[in-house]
Amino acid sequence: MNGSFWKSVSMPRFTPLSESIEVDVLIVGGGNTGIVSAYLLKQAGLRVALIERDRCCQVNTGNTTAHLTYVTDLSLQKLVSSHGRDHAQAVWDAGQAAINQIEGIVSTEQIACEFTRIPSYIHASILGDKDESKRVDMSLW
Ligand SMILES: Cc1cc2nc3c(=O)[nH]c(=O)nc-3n(C[C@H](O)[C@H](O)[C@H](O)COP(=O)(O)OP(=O)(O)OC[C@H]3O[C@@H](n4cnc5c(N)ncnc54)[C@H](O)[C@@H]3O)c2cc1C
Repeated sequence: MNGSFWKSVSMPRFTPLSESIEVDVLIVGGGNTGIVSAYLLKQAGLRVALIERDRCCQVNTGNTTAHLTYVTDLSLQKLVSSHGRDHAQAVWDAGQAAINQIEGIVSTEQIACEFTRIPSYIHASILGDKDESKRVDMSLW
């Protein structure tokens, strides 16, 4: 498939609010972040409303491949040198915890999304920077 899967499926439509409502938390934005936050807050027993100015899951979320990884754009070495070892570790642990949480939600809610753990590879571009392959080794990354 060439193009985003999420933009090829029909997301549910909701009617605009027609009256004032009272909630504990109002979430602005129906992308990944807003929807997961709303879900978790509801699980915690809060009254939640989520508002979206257009359609849910169409902006950044609409362009993801749904490939989850906690390998950060910034190399671990650079994270450590700029933020210290503890903070770098916290970034790594948070990514791992997030994916574990998603896996837990998929299981609890029995979401048929074929969630699967697979090996991940970083490879050098076949174009451009010839030195890139030397930097691809995770120990140097
Ligand atoms: C091309 C691309 C590919 C990506 N691929 C991956 C990937 O493979 N794996 C991965 O993990 N991540 C990927 N990402 C990153 C991931 O998509 C984003 O981090 C994530 O979707 C961000 O979600 P979000 O809910 O914060 O933002 P968004 O999805 O942008 O949602 C924000 C929502 O808020 C709404 N909004 C904004 N202002 C208002 C307002 N004032 N009132 C009401 N609504 C408002 C917007 O309409 C939008 O729907 C990718 C990002 C891009 C752009």
